[in-house]
Amino acid sequence: MLPDIKSQTADPLQAQFRVWRQPAYRVSQLLEWLYVHHVTNWEEMSNLPRALRNELQKHYSLHCLELVRKQGARDTTQKFLWRLSDRSLIESVLIPANPALFGEPSDRHTLCVSTQVGCAYGCKFCASGLEGLKRNLRVEEIVDQVLAVEREESKGPENDEGRIASVGVGQETMSAEASRFTHLSRRSQTKADHVSHTADQALAAMSRVTHHASRLVSNLVIMGMGEPLANYDSLMKALKILNAPWGGGIGARKITVSTSGLAPQIRKLADEPLQFRLAISLHGATDETRNKIMPVNRKYPLRELTAACEYYQQRKGRMITFEYILIEGVNDGPEQVKPLAALARRLNAKVNLIPYNKVEGLPWERPSERAQEAFLAALEKQKVSATLRREKGHDIDAACGQLRLKTERELAVERPKSAVSFENC
Ligand code: SAH
Ligand code: SF4
Repeated sequence: MLPDIKSQTADPLQAQFRVWRQPAYRVSQLLEWLYVHHVTNWEEMSNLPRALRNELQKHYSLHCLELVRKQGARDTTQKFLWRLSDRSLIESVLIPANPALFGEPSDRHTLCVSTQVGCAYGCKFCASGLEGLKRNLRVEEIVDQVLAVEREESKGPENDEGRIASVGVGQETMSAEASRFTHLSRRSQTKADHVSHTADQALAAMSRVTHHASRLVSNLVIMGMGEPLANYDSLMKALKILNAPWGGGIGARKITVSTSGLAPQIRKLADEPLQFRLAISLHGATDETRNKIMPVNRKYPLRELTAACEYYQQRKGRMITFEYILIEGVNDGPEQVKPLAALARRLNAKVNLIPYNKVEGLPWERPSERAQEAFLAALEKQKVSATLRREKGHDIDAACGQLRLKTERELAVERPKSAVSFENC
């Protein structure tokens, strides 16, 4: 299998271009086609000589995610269901920022990114883990979630239907006029075409162009399907590309990695040069409660997890967030409040309370709003910084893995009826 072009960082590309005796500015032109113009095939890279395009095609693949289904409206949370080249399904969720202060509209968006197909960790409440792990996502499959969402959003709102897509949807290329980002960036494209001759100058020009283009996606949360730290190397490479000024240009401080508690990998993350934010899916403040709902806790109990978090804090000096889903009768009782507050104070962590989103086929329920507010108030009384997510999440299969699960179940029902089925898509 050829390496994919979106799994490559700038340095090896520059080395390869030197071997091909290509001037350095060609690398910046290539990167600009990928990360500014979001092209989906080699043909569109019109300022690269044909011989170079042929050489690239011989050495690299250029895979793009294929849109299967989209849910939600443009000004709200939108879920994207993608099909990968092996027909696996994954999800990304695009969340618009709240309007900025003083009512100014804000065009910042947070994208929730998947890192695996399914998940091996089997948390009892989670749709992603229900059918186990299928495979890790490759670097380019993580990177392209950002680019594919921006490609889709640059098309008109007529594409906002929430139905399962028909054959081949998502394969077509983006028309130049349709893309707001393409528009913005093409104006400055000629600059990168001509100004630079050394590799560093070329990449510097590229960075300026990317910066001008101002991405739709400004923040990333690695909280989609899968356990990010179980796909560590691919995730790190993808984040390096999404962070690089010649690539995604998304600041490391705007990238949050969430984990169910893989203590050794948390320590590894602490030793990385980039300053990512860390979120821990705690969901229980005692080993007894965590053991009931999160099998990972038997491998890395709270003592080990908190020691790893302390190490992260010492190395990074950054605040950690605890994600805490409220599940009725499981972890929403008053007996959880004191140990949770003690952990949060010890690690100087902020607590994000999230009302559980019901998953079809699982017995867990969301507590009443009154019970949610009572839990928040009890935590605040313990002098802990906490927030409660108050959105109505149930309506769009909001938790990770739910849209994929629902679609796979629908397809399984549809398959015997339809001769075409999705084998042909
Ligand atoms: N595997 C990583 C990241 C993906 S899960 C982790 O566990 O942190 C992202 C977040 O969604 C986690 O906090 C997870 O516990 C939460 N989650 C999973 N199922 C949910 C549900 N049904 N309702 C609300 N949150 C859920
Ligand atoms: Fe996996 Fe995270 Fe879901 Fe647990 S909560 S099964 S670790 S995706």
